[in-house]
Amino acid sequence: SDSDSVKVAVRVRPFNQREKAANSKCILSMNGSQTVITDPATGNTKMFGFDQSYWSHDGFKEDDNGIYQGTDSSYADQRRVFNDLGQGVLNNAWAGYNAALFAYGQTGAGKSYSMVGYGINRGIVPITCDELFTAISKNEDKERQYQVSFSMLEIYNEKVRDLLSKDSKNLTVRQSPKQGFYVENLKQTPVQNYKEIERLMDQGTKNRTTASTNMNATSSRSHMVITVRFKQVFINASGESTTKSSEINLVDLAGSERASSTGATGDRLKEGSAINQSLSTLGNVISALADNSSGKKKVMVPYRNSVLTKLLQNALGGNSKTIMIAALSPADINYEETLSTLRYADRAKKIKNNAVVNESPTD
Ligand code: ADP
Ligand code: MG
Repeated sequence: SDSDSVKVAVRVRPFNQREKAANSKCILSMNGSQTVITDPATGNTKMFGFDQSYWSHDGFKEDDNGIYQGTDSSYADQRRVFNDLGQGVLNNAWAGYNAALFAYGQTGAGKSYSMVGYGINRGIVPITCDELFTAISKNEDKERQYQVSFSMLEIYNEKVRDLLSKDSKNLTVRQSPKQGFYVENLKQTPVQNYKEIERLMDQGTKNRTTASTNMNATSSRSHMVITVRFKQVFINASGESTTKSSEINLVDLAGSERASSTGATGDRLKEGSAINQSLSTLGNVISALADNSSGKKKVMVPYRNSVLTKLLQNALGGNSKTIMIAALSPADINYEETLSTLRYADRAKKIKNNAVVNESPTD
C-alpha cells in the first residue's frame, strides 16, 4: 500500500460580464504554487500554498476556433490542467489504482469549466476519457484485453438519480463488505471508444440541465458523480488470466456558497440545507481525516452522515489517489466565499490516502 496526500490545485477564472460591468477588482495573485488573497476592505493579505495554483484570469485570447489560447506563459489553459492532473489520474488507472478528482467552489467559480468544459474548450474529464482510449488503441494485442464502463449520477436533496436512465428518481445506496457503499441499479454502460462516452456525457449533462430549468437551478445545488471503470485482462501463454482494475470517480460538487447568502426560503431552503448536509458532512469528513493524519487525535470519520461521503469514502482517506481542484472567483465582491474555499482546500491537503493496486489473483 502506498500512502500519499490528497493533491490540491486551485484555479482562478476571468471576470464574468457582471463583474466587469461592476468594475470589480481582482483580489487574487499567484506566484508559482502560491496563491495570495487580499481583503478588499483592509488590504491585508493571506498566503496559501498548493500543489498547483492555476492562473486562468487573463493573458489569453479566443482564437478563430473559439479555443482559449494563452498569450502569456503564466496563463493555464485546459491542456495544461489536464497534463498536470488528468494525466496523473490516467497513469494511476493504468497501474491499477483507484483515482478520484473532485471540483469544489462557489457557483459560477469555474468547477464545470475545469471538469467538463464548454464546447471546444474541453475539460479534464473528456480529455482524460479520450486519452484513455488513445492509449488503449496503442496497447492492443492478443495478450491483453480492456474493459471500460461509464456511469453518471446526481445527488440532489440526498437522493440519487441516474443521469443516464430515463425515469430514474431515487436509487438506493447499499453497502457490501467487498465494494463498500454503492448505488443499487445504477446503469453501468460498457463503452468501446471515446465517442460513446462523449454521447453519454452529453445525455447526462442534458438531463442535469433539464432538471435545472424546472427546479430552480438544480445543477448548482446537486453533486454530479461520473465513474469510469477500467479493467485490464492479461492472458499468459498457457491461457491463464490476471486482471488489474481501477475505478475513476470524477465529481462536480454543488456550489459551496451558504444557503443563507442565496436568500432561500421554503422548499428551496430544504434543498439548500440537504445540500449543505452533504457539503457540510464533506467538510466534517475532511476535518476529521486532517486531524487523524496529523496524529493529534483519533476521531470518528462521519462518512455515513451523507450520501455524498458514503459514495466518496474510498476517495477520501481510503483506497484511492485523489485530487481536488478548487475553483476561485477573482472578484472583490466574492472575497468571503473565495477565502472560505481557500481554507477548505488548505484543509484537504492534509488528508492521507492509502491506495493499493487492485489486481487479481492478488500476490
Ligand atoms: P461552476 O460550475 O463553478 O458553477 P462554471 O464552470 O459554469 O462555474 O463557470 C462559470 C462561467 O465562467 C462559465 O461561463 C465559464 O465558461 C466561465 N469560466 C470558468 N472558468 C473559466 C476559465 N478558466 N477560463 C475561461 N472561462 C471560464
Ligand atoms: Mg457547474
